[in-house]
Amino acid sequence: MPARPIPVFDGHNDALLRLLRSSHPRPEERFLAGEPLCHLDLPRARAGGFAGGFFAIYVPDPKAGGAEIDAMMARPRYDVPLPPMLETGYARDVSLAMMAILLRLERASRGAVTICRSAADIEAAMARGAIAAVAHMEGAEAIDPDLRTLEVFHAAGLRSLGPVWSRPTIFGNGVPFRYPSGPDIGEGLTERGRALIKACNRLKIMVDLSHLNERGFWDVARISDAPLVATHSNAHAVCPHARNLTDEQLGAIAESGGMVGLNFATSFIRPDGRRDPATPLSMLVDHIDHLVEKIGIDGVGFGSDFDGATVPDAIGDAGGLQSLVAALASRGYDGEALEKICWRNWLRVLRATWGG
Ligand code: ZN
Repeated sequence: MPARPIPVFDGHNDALLRLLRSSHPRPEERFLAGEPLCHLDLPRARAGGFAGGFFAIYVPDPKAGGAEIDAMMARPRYDVPLPPMLETGYARDVSLAMMAILLRLERASRGAVTICRSAADIEAAMARGAIAAVAHMEGAEAIDPDLRTLEVFHAAGLRSLGPVWSRPTIFGNGVPFRYPSGPDIGEGLTERGRALIKACNRLKIMVDLSHLNERGFWDVARISDAPLVATHSNAHAVCPHARNLTDEQLGAIAESGGMVGLNFATSFIRPDGRRDPATPLSMLVDHIDHLVEKIGIDGVGFGSDFDGATVPDAIGDAGGLQSLVAALASRGYDGEALEKICWRNWLRVLRATWGG
């Protein structure tokens, strides 16, 4: 293990969803004090060198529980049908509640957690040891066709958005959870989806490709003037899951100066697609090797999916991040390469996307 922990800026976590579901009247206090069963809270972040990352606003389906999808994904081969579209009013209410939790978390933390709206904000937070939180919307269910809510969420601090989760929205179609499978499933962006991408470019909101199907991916690649980014996806050549990116997609990301954050979810890591916490770190490093080969050392980072996925026991939670750093070091990644993967690449891409 390196003598000093290398700070990690991370592409994706679902801590806000966990806090939304908490029965505690002030769930933000639970994040700050620490909770018994979770991946990411303040004590774990400090223990593992988690310096910040994208905090997802994700709207759970009020009818179909995640348990059904979980059961299907436990099979050796599966094809989970796309869940139905959510109702906009419901999605807006839940998204506002999650944004409010993040704002309350920042206020209650007295400087320990800070919502970052620029690359300079992230640098300043990292310099003083505060958690640098970027507000991210995973699926644009809360956004109305006239994009008025986009303006309001942007004003509240939103700086990253995926037009879809693995579910349809008025903007496009998500990629289904299917294994084994390529990502070319279903239609791409709608007319409204294309307008949303242009609006994100104008407002300097990063567009996340992670849950788009392949046609949607190429639509964004054609329209967007920003680097192409998949916050939490892996290499299809290593694990043939529909959620992972083909070499052709990785080539387009490289060409745009964008990046990919490695998703720790074992279903997207293991060549056999199984959800198995006994997955060795070497399998995660295999994805990093492939991503680096196809995008370059400047285009790869982490996108843990903490609190949203089954991650390897060898990492466990945010407190175990340095064991992955150590696994990369033992595969030959040196100091500069490690810093790029751990946080510098995210900062570079965000500066290029947001300006300043
Ligand atoms: Zn996701």
